[in-house]
Amino acid sequence: MLNVVIFGPPGSGKGTQSEKIIEKYGLEHISTGDLLRYEISHHTHLGALAKSYIDKGNLVPDDLIIDMIDSKIDKLHNIPGIIFDGFPRTVEQAEALKELLNSHGEEVSVMVNLNVDRQELIDRLLKRGETSGRTDDNLETIEKRLSVYESQTTPVIDYYKKEKKLVEIKGIGNIDDIFGRIANALDKIK
Ligand code: ADP
Repeated sequence: MLNVVIFGPPGSGKGTQSEKIIEKYGLEHISTGDLLRYEISHHTHLGALAKSYIDKGNLVPDDLIIDMIDSKIDKLHNIPGIIFDGFPRTVEQAEALKELLNSHGEEVSVMVNLNVDRQELIDRLLKRGETSGRTDDNLETIEKRLSVYESQTTPVIDYYKKEKKLVEIKGIGNIDDIFGRIANALDKIK
């Protein structure tokens, strides 16, 4: 299987590039942000809990996220691979993912790290906020999310670097050009 972790700060284009990767490689999409927003819109207990973290720009606790991923992976059968979008966001989540995939005889094939500078991220997220209806796309929460990313999520890059799974991709410019860079990298490891 081709198991891809699409990685980068909020606003780096993980969702946009995931769609294109899925179209080309037929992967299953697991986006923790989408899963959490689904729970919120369906007024579940998990949704209510998650919302209290998300609206402040904080991470949802690891155990909740890992349980959610675990049950999602269990439901997938006979697929060419999975793209993980917005997960793992902590080293603990990365370690849990390794165990989960190992228990299915699988592993992460590659981590694609989208590089975008801070001002571009803020501009993109504010623009998205005009139409997304997302309560976390406002300047105060965006700045908090970026600082949480720096402190809690960037160590995940080193984790995959040590595992020799890291591929760096320039995430600025035309969407199709960025996808071209990603596809080049994926075709090499397939
Ligand atoms: P973005 O990458 O633009 O911040 P996401 O949709 O991936 O957007 O995530 C939105 C919010 O959901 C995050 O700020 C965080 O509160 C929560 N979240 C999503 N994925 C995770 C995760 N793997 N671990 C903890 N919290 C998460």
